[in-house]
Amino acid sequence: MKREFQVQRSKFQVHCLLAALCCILIVSLLSCSFKKDQIYRKTMILMDTLITINVVSDSSDKASKAMDRAFDEIGKLDKLLNFFSSSSELSMINRNAGISAVKVSPETLEVIEDAIFVSEKTGGAFDSTIGPEISLWDFHTRKMPDDKTVKERLPLVDYKLIRIDRNKSTVYLEKKGMLIDLGAIAKGYAADKAVEELKRQGITSGLVSCAGDIRAFGLKPDGKPWKIGIKNPRPANKEDEIMATVGLSDMAISTSGDYERFFISNGRRYHHILDPKTGYSAEGCRSVTVIARYGFQTDAFSTGVFVLGPRKGMELLRQMGFEGVIVDKDGGIETTPGLKGRIEFKGNN
Ligand code: ADP
Ligand code: MG
Repeated sequence: MKREFQVQRSKFQVHCLLAALCCILIVSLLSCSFKKDQIYRKTMILMDTLITINVVSDSSDKASKAMDRAFDEIGKLDKLLNFFSSSSELSMINRNAGISAVKVSPETLEVIEDAIFVSEKTGGAFDSTIGPEISLWDFHTRKMPDDKTVKERLPLVDYKLIRIDRNKSTVYLEKKGMLIDLGAIAKGYAADKAVEELKRQGITSGLVSCAGDIRAFGLKPDGKPWKIGIKNPRPANKEDEIMATVGLSDMAISTSGDYERFFISNGRRYHHILDPKTGYSAEGCRSVTVIARYGFQTDAFSTGVFVLGPRKGMELLRQMGFEGVIVDKDGGIETTPGLKGRIEFKGNN
């Protein structure tokens, strides 16, 4: 009798437990259906450009806090790497060219090392010591330097003259007058750092766009990859026009183009991507889009490939295992084989 009672009791306990579990399940299913994932967005001007962060979250507070932290990261990099601010670490390195090594933060060291890596891979087509040449130009006021000055300054453009001491965390430029300009890598690097911060904040999906340098991670709430537009370098109207779209998840994309900052004089287009060998605008391409794992790679390689031109540029993309689209100087479009089927071209280009 006692034993029967005990069996009944334990059956009753199991039923209670099952009922409790069902309740928990129903409550959590209900709360899931109320807390739907959404895309939250914030925009700021930092690094002299428009930066937009999108995150997927079920909470506006969580999304907002994560985005603020990511913007703080970008703001920190802006202070360290700004070419024009006299208080940046980059300016300290440049002011001390030919004088002394400058102790810098890990981020400054890392981005300069990344820049040297890309210079090596592009055979110097990407070279962040382009500063003495780029500062001779003003594409807004159509200021063009005289040829003699351009030639005189060429020996100052050489990434091999950057000395890094990792143990001491210092950077030294060997020749007086050298200037590092991180304009072709810093935005992509910043997108990487922002994504790292968003992930630390528990965000599993988002999109960071530092102007044309974009890094995507995870999927949109509809389960699809982030859709990115690639600009037509010669739009029919003055407005931005999309040439193609590509779906991306856990990848970065950048486009470098001759239409961003330029002027035309005597029928020739002068723009902000310079060939480090000549000091003049590189001529083989209208635009180069690179897709790779990291923003620092896509930012810097899009510039480097632009300088290399369509043939050598395509070969480098293949070697690096990157994807990309090159629009050559005559408007011919070439796409890496891996992008076929993933990229959608619009209308008649
Ligand atoms: P954007 O800044 O429009 O995204 P890029 O990423 O191609 O375009 O960077 C262009 C900037 O990089 C220029 O404004 C200049 O500061 C710098 N730059 C120009 N030519 C080179 C080069 N060959 N290698 C490295 N940096 C360059
Ligand atoms: Mg770039």
